[in-house]
Amino acid sequence: MADTRETDVLILGAGFAGLTAARRIAASHRVLLVDRHAYQTLRPKLPEAVAGTSPCAVRLPVADALEGTPVEFLPASVLEIDPERRLVETDTGPLRYARLVVALGSQPHIPAPGSVPGAAEFALPLWDFEHACAIRRRVTLQAHSAARAASAPERRAAASVVVVGAGFAGVEVAGQLQDRLVALTEAFGLALGEAQVHVVERAPRILPTFAPALARAVAQDLVRRGVVLHLNASVRAVTGDAVILADGTTLPAGAVIWAGGVRAADAVAALGAPLAAGRIPVDSTLRSRAWPDVYAVGDAAAVTAPNGELLAQSAQIAMQAGAAVAVSVARDLAGLPPRPSHLSERGAALGLGARSAAAVVAAGNLMLTGWPARLIKDAALAHYLLALGGLRLAGAYLDPVILQPRRGRIEVGNPRMAVQHADPAPRLVTR
Ligand SMILES: Cc1cc2nc3c(=O)[nH]c(=O)nc-3n(C[C@H](O)[C@H](O)[C@H](O)COP(=O)(O)OP(=O)(O)OC[C@H]3O[C@@H](n4cnc5c(N)ncnc54)[C@H](O)[C@@H]3O)c2cc1C
Repeated sequence: MADTRETDVLILGAGFAGLTAARRIAASHRVLLVDRHAYQTLRPKLPEAVAGTSPCAVRLPVADALEGTPVEFLPASVLEIDPERRLVETDTGPLRYARLVVALGSQPHIPAPGSVPGAAEFALPLWDFEHACAIRRRVTLQAHSAARAASAPERRAAASVVVVGAGFAGVEVAGQLQDRLVALTEAFGLALGEAQVHVVERAPRILPTFAPALARAVAQDLVRRGVVLHLNASVRAVTGDAVILADGTTLPAGAVIWAGGVRAADAVAALGAPLAAGRIPVDSTLRSRAWPDVYAVGDAAAVTAPNGELLAQSAQIAMQAGAAVAVSVARDLAGLPPRPSHLSERGAALGLGARSAAAVVAAGNLMLTGWPARLIKDAALAHYLLALGGLRLAGAYLDPVILQPRRGRIEVGNPRMAVQHADPAPRLVTR
């Protein structure tokens, strides 16, 4: 049996929240950071990776983010959290802590066969870089087979894509894919409009949890560029080549992307305490309401905003929470009275394609589209990288975006050591 490893502060999950927290807490305490991957997936870059609209590094090696800090990193999978015994079971052995920070994020939720038949079998999630590659490959292959189909309806069915869910990720991937389909239409000699992106959303508008002005601007942009929106529509079933809506409408589809929500990470779901919308309820210091030695941040935490609603699950909130929990844990360990944190949405920026973006900033008071919105979107990632590793890290990651803009190339990890994925779309018209 493996020995139990002990630490002052154990952080589970090296994503936006966990990495931010680890670097800060390590200034004063012994920190052990655990993640099943030795890299962080920069999920906000995944829609661009699907479309190849800008060269980007999607994976950030944890070692790069921790360089120069005393944080210890353990690559391991968390199997079980036992807050009563202050113990975490991993596939490399048990870990004991004085304080625990749960930053395990969430995971994509694709409905089970009993609720939406065919969804789990045929729909593709977008969560990891592999998913982005799989979607990109499928869409390309479908356009290729559409080019060989005999009739226009067959071509339309093979080349079209259905995105289920019009939240942040669904809308971004739809916008980015529209660019991709236009490029594939040209490459394979399809007629304009034969390859279409359809978005299915059960709410009466897209981006239901975002400011109405932002949702309107994004909807206008998508529709103008040819995306078809199906609102107040829910999915009854998914088949190998179509999505069937509750009202009986059949949307033929060469690829189906499921962006219809997230659920708790398995280790969080198994905690055995009441969760709020699959997240750990925390107070204003981000301390668990059930266990005083446990804190939760990012997608894994249910943080209540002053209006009584839960804060959105976003990279922006995860980073704020990572910084705030560092203060809470340090004060807790020093025996100081708790100080509430004030997390808030400061705006939202969506990249919708090579030339399309929309943003609301200044707490929703300023609406931007086009390149200023694109700048805000890129600035958010730059801000994160700067906060983590200063110019060294931000420079290494943003270099290729600023200095070598080349459409259709996606890089994994640090561009200087990257495996590069060439654009699989042939340039020649094949029929
Ligand atoms: C396609 C897409 C686009 C998005 N775009 C944006 C955007 O533009 N702006 C924005 O603000 N937000 C965006 N988001 C949401 C944002 O990515 C998340 O809210 C954010 O990543 C949450 O950060 P986190 O630190 O809580 O979790 P994560 O960043 O998901 O990190 C959790 C970590 O926990 C690890 N982990 C999980 N389970 C285990 C286990 N059992 N053992 C060991 N390790 C484990 C994972 O490997 C991961 O590294 C997007 C999400 C998606 C899917």
